[in-house]
Amino acid sequence: MSPELADSASRYDIAVIGGGIHGAGVAQAAAAAGHSVLLVERSAWGAGTSSKSSKLIHGGLRYLQSGALGLVRESLRERETLLRIAPHLVHRATFHIPVYRESRYRPWQLYLGLTLYWALAGFGRSGRFATLSASDADFPGLRRSGWQTLFRYCDARTDDRRLTQAVVASAASLGATLACPARLESARRVRDVWEIDLTEPQGIRQATARILINCAGPWVDSVATTINPTPPRPAFDLVQGTHLVLSSPIADRCYYLESPSDGRAVFFLPWQGKSLLGTTETLFHGNPDEVRTTPAEEAYLLGVLRHYFPTAEPVVTERMAGLRVLPQGATTVFKRSREVVLVADSRHQPSYIAIYGGKLTGYRATAAKVLRLAATALPRRRIRADTARLVLPDPD
Ligand SMILES: Cc1cc2nc3c(=O)[nH]c(=O)nc-3n(C[C@H](O)[C@H](O)[C@H](O)COP(=O)(O)OP(=O)(O)OC[C@H]3O[C@@H](n4cnc5c(N)ncnc54)[C@H](O)[C@@H]3O)c2cc1C
Repeated sequence: MSPELADSASRYDIAVIGGGIHGAGVAQAAAAAGHSVLLVERSAWGAGTSSKSSKLIHGGLRYLQSGALGLVRESLRERETLLRIAPHLVHRATFHIPVYRESRYRPWQLYLGLTLYWALAGFGRSGRFATLSASDADFPGLRRSGWQTLFRYCDARTDDRRLTQAVVASAASLGATLACPARLESARRVRDVWEIDLTEPQGIRQATARILINCAGPWVDSVATTINPTPPRPAFDLVQGTHLVLSSPIADRCYYLESPSDGRAVFFLPWQGKSLLGTTETLFHGNPDEVRTTPAEEAYLLGVLRHYFPTAEPVVTERMAGLRVLPQGATTVFKRSREVVLVADSRHQPSYIAIYGGKLTGYRATAAKVLRLAATALPRRRIRADTARLVLPDPD
């Protein structure tokens, strides 16, 4: 064993690979439960998928279509928790769904869906929704011809990268050790611990951990291949999602639009003085480092925008492409489950756990599931905090 490994400062209960929202959440939950934690990120906190999302803290109205009631209920609960513990990062927002004569979803279907969404949120005051007629309000730029009605409901929004940075800062304040930039090169199971090699700008760093948690998002499989013995590697799909940032602030409020070509939901939102338009869902084959917005995605999104805002003259200033990890399945990617899948080398005494999929909104609930699974393989420690009550720090 190298001299570094003999140093108790480099021995951890848990090593977490990946500094997106899931890695940050698991490190925070583990540190709050009293464990020693090393959080490793090769690039920058939140640099991967966790800065390319639609930035919604929501139950996911559209997931009601696939009957994912448990997921929606859990996410709505998490939405309320995040509004409480991160009021400077997570804000309520009012969304508008215009319905036209040609829309696939009929007003009564949306009415039922929004009622169910409200019920799953516990019928709170903030979950109320309303139906507006054309004369009720002014919607600058929104097409009026064929207009039937418009629904208004409440959800929440965030800055995904800053939220991730805040959770990382919270983990550090609870005692987690941060390594960034640091890349996991390899991990070997030797007797009862993982011996881990990291590359940092200043050279190779070594550490040991009882449990290794793979939170590498779309890189989950490439991280798994560096591990010996090779852990379970389930089949999954990578699904590309693009957002466009448009220079003029055309979106003066949050819109939930139905794509006229395939019925998918597309969000059109005010974003930092500009507008955010997205997202797409296209199967991705290749190296996750090379994900880029395609001309077809851009044309699709601008087509949806022009359908609803015929006079808009959008200028694209930024393109953001991210990758979802979705279980393989026979249905279209749009209808696939968004439930997080935890993969472990053993259900009773795991030494390796990987997170496949999941949502930004549910990061705390996912981290709690990981910790419950890992509990049998970890020593009992003195609990330091409850992440449901711990106010997140300002990341700046
Ligand atoms: C287009 C799109 C829109 C979405 N919109 C929403 C939304 O509005 N609301 C919502 O709740 N969810 C949304 N999601 C889902 C959510 O964004 C993701 O579930 C979440 O961000 C995934 O986080 P993660 O930590 O698993 O992965 P990532 O954020 O990708 O983090 C993985 C990290 O691992 C690091 N890494 C990789 N290899 C190594 C290595 N060898 N060593 C060290 N580090 C490594 C990477 O650099 C990266 O930072 C969206 C997803 C997409 C794709």
